[in-house]
Amino acid sequence: MSKKVTNIGVLTSGGDSPGMNAAVRAVVRTGIFHGLGVYGIMRGYAGMIDDDIHPMTGRSVANIIQRGGTILKTARSKEFMEYAGREKAYYNLKKRNIDGLVIIGGDGSFRGAQKFSNEFDIPCIGLPGTIDKDIAGSDTTIGFDTAVNTAVQAIDKIRDTMDAHDRLFIVEVMGRDAGYIALHSGIATGAENIVIPETKTDIEELLSSLMEKEKRKKLVNLVVVAEGGEFGDANELVKIIKERIPTADIRVCILGHIQRGGSPSCADRLVASHMGYYAVESLMIGRNNVMVGVINNKIHYTPLDKAVKEKQKIGQEWMKIVKILAS
Ligand code: ADP
Repeated sequence: MSKKVTNIGVLTSGGDSPGMNAAVRAVVRTGIFHGLGVYGIMRGYAGMIDDDIHPMTGRSVANIIQRGGTILKTARSKEFMEYAGREKAYYNLKKRNIDGLVIIGGDGSFRGAQKFSNEFDIPCIGLPGTIDKDIAGSDTTIGFDTAVNTAVQAIDKIRDTMDAHDRLFIVEVMGRDAGYIALHSGIATGAENIVIPETKTDIEELLSSLMEKEKRKKLVNLVVVAEGGEFGDANELVKIIKERIPTADIRVCILGHIQRGGSPSCADRLVASHMGYYAVESLMIGRNNVMVGVINNKIHYTPLDKAVKEKQKIGQEWMKIVKILAS
């Protein structure tokens, strides 16, 4: 395989997700264990371009495994989209002899990593850090479990007030292109309907199920909607329902950014630690341009371009189960 790495850089990029810190910690400490120099790059690719790059020690990542957000901060960088920006970033790495990178982020960050690696011969390993779980090549992503549990806790609270008032509630969760948070949180909270971008929603069926439930005096109804659902956001869906069922007492709750924050769950800390460790091991043996994922509890490597292009597929049987269990 290719040349041996001596100094590595780690960065968090794009949307933040709980568990990124646990991954940074794992990368730093595994790197130090192997005698590598480890650098923390601030604000993703922006810090690579602005030379905001700092040596890390085992102490720099002490007491962060339980913290949400990312101590390295994250950003989106327009400059990195241009060759000139990437070249500037390369020279900042070169002057420190950084010859390997670990990028914790989503598919956009992986696209950037792949381009950079191909242009400047710096091996790049991606770790899927996103709450959306919208990346192929891993059963889960760093942050998904925490986000979904945050959504479940919030929806449980909403259910209490919903039940007290016999109301229909539309809860919008995050997921512009992927409905996993909606699907998992919806199933776990007993939602009557779930609207996700991956499957076509039969609006007539949704409306008639709500009308039928009104007739049966099953007045407590919960619809969980992914923000990227086919009817637009939750408010748009309310308009459609109101037109057909004007008497419905509907409330909307948009969970928003609370889903990104908070202390990572045990599962996210584990997966981040596991992936972080194998990111460094991968660089040590000369792997390049792959994402470290976990499939069936085993580490699995996917070329970055496949992780980027493919989206996970949601099993249709889940949507059927949702309807049966909520009837
Ligand atoms: P995420 O990683 O969460 O999907 P973004 O899509 O915003 O987030 O991507 C993060 C950053 O990755 C962008 O701000 C940009 O700097 C870089 N990036 C994304 N796509 C490309 C690309 N095609 N070429 C170069 N850099 C890219």
